[in-house]
Amino acid sequence: MKLTILGKYGPYPKAGAACSGYLVESKGAKIVLDMGAGTLSRLLSLVDIREVDAIILSHLHYDHTSDLLPLRYLLEEIDHNVKIYAHTDDSEWCKILLNHKNFLLTHIDENTTLDIGGNNVSFLLMNHSVDNYAIKITGDRTLAYTGDTKYTDKVYTLMSGANALLADCAKPYGFGGPHMNVSDAIAFARDKDVKIIATHWGAGYNPTDDLKGYENIILPEELATYNI
Ligand SMILES: [Zn+2]
Ligand SMILES: [Zn+2]
Repeated sequence: MKLTILGKYGPYPKAGAACSGYLVESKGAKIVLDMGAGTLSRLLSLVDIREVDAIILSHLHYDHTSDLLPLRYLLEEIDHNVKIYAHTDDSEWCKILLNHKNFLLTHIDENTTLDIGGNNVSFLLMNHSVDNYAIKITGDRTLAYTGDTKYTDKVYTLMSGANALLADCAKPYGFGGPHMNVSDAIAFARDKDVKIIATHWGAGYNPTDDLKGYENIILPEELATYNI
């Protein structure tokens, strides 16, 4: 299983960078997790959109979804449909974002399990300012992605059996918003069996100084690929 970071910033990107988006390649399937600003260009530099088996959204905040809008123009032009899995609601934004003829939309919640190219995918409702579902993908290896969340004990449920945790835990010590911070990353890293990939960096704070030196914390680079 391979993970490529399309973008790691939120809620807006640093200059020259991109918001949340990740490409997971496992058992021959290509699965995109989130599609924030700047990620479509990066994705297209790596794969043909026709090769993408599924796009899964953790939640509908702009920094995780906005590149779905220009993606629609591409899909119209080539007359191609993509499968999108998301927790839908009756909000105007959800309709604007996801109602499109080239999006084959499936609603997800905690009861959903998917088989995408032989990979098992399951979901866990976390603790964010809107409904956010962590995504756990098991192929030959297991990757869990928190999406956006404050600390909750459910992170340990996610980590159970996972080889890597892609976690919204790159905010500074004492951060008060609906995200985890570097102290959470350090706590998770006590489990040496799980690689902690610290994502959702803010444009104004670099967590490297606070997180360097922990052997199983990865400070990911955009467009880099990691073996899970
Ligand atoms: Zn976010
Ligand atoms: Zn969010």
